[in-house]
Amino acid sequence: MNSFFRQNTLTRDIATSGIGIHSGKRIQLRLLPAAENTGVVFRRTDCGGMEIPALASHVSSVELATTLGRDDVTISTVEHLLAALRICNVDNLIVELDGSEVPILDGSALPFMRLIEATGLRQQAASRRVFVVTAPLSVELGGKSIRVSPYPGLRVSYAIDFAHGAIGHQRLDLEVDQQSFERELASARTFALERDVAALHQRGLGLGGHQDNCVIFGDTGPANTTLRFADEPVRHKALDAIGDLSLLGAPLWGHVEVERGGHQVHYSMTEALLSRTDCWTWATGDPQPMARPEPPTRRREPSERPAVPLGILPA
Ligand SMILES: [Zn+2]
Repeated sequence: MNSFFRQNTLTRDIATSGIGIHSGKRIQLRLLPAAENTGVVFRRTDCGGMEIPALASHVSSVELATTLGRDDVTISTVEHLLAALRICNVDNLIVELDGSEVPILDGSALPFMRLIEATGLRQQAASRRVFVVTAPLSVELGGKSIRVSPYPGLRVSYAIDFAHGAIGHQRLDLEVDQQSFERELASARTFALERDVAALHQRGLGLGGHQDNCVIFGDTGPANTTLRFADEPVRHKALDAIGDLSLLGAPLWGHVEVERGGHQVHYSMTEALLSRTDCWTWATGDPQPMARPEPPTRRREPSERPAVPLGILPA
């Protein structure tokens, strides 16, 4: 079987620590190898070992960051780590945290890629499924939109349009693989507008934002750092989209086109896809002659079937 279609975990445990960008608290992060078919599962060691799978069905909030939740336990800002895990083909992993946020580190996905690269992957026997888009699907949300269409691999086209002179209109189109992600997107940092910072702090958010973990845009440009790319914001948005779409629980093959997106928009597409099983199929890489991709096997009980977002349009 083509090794792409085999599951992977890490070869060994690896740990780091850093602050949460919203709470400002120091948090320990540990990545532990996991058995086949575990998926990526977060574990709060400070909450009795509560485990929360990195799946769209466990998203509890998409405001400012993507937050997973179960009962009253939450884990916020999962998207940069999840993007790195997805792109590095880590399928099975326990992510231990002793707080409610993934450390922000430098605000990008690059430190997480470096952790993964430092341990390396261990291939497992179980086959991996790929989530293959077979028909176009669009979601519109108040002037923002996301569309997926069939594509042999992952391609992300992203446009943002900020009514802010230092950001403005930025557009990116990238065929995404591990090399292009590492080169073009991984180091793009999270960002905020200087004019919004006081309001965020008043709400108890962004308290861990520092010079070395985000880009703060003043009226004429970055106020706290120098940019890693002239269009670093749109690159970061594309990184966020890859992390958020990994909540489908498998690699995604499709062309993702986003206009003025954000976590809410990305999440809406995961929900739309999971409810529209006529728009995608599983591919397993089964080498049997004339093998066709498996029909969709994911089934939800009616009670857990998400409501179809109002904004879904026939593409
Ligand atoms: Zn982000």
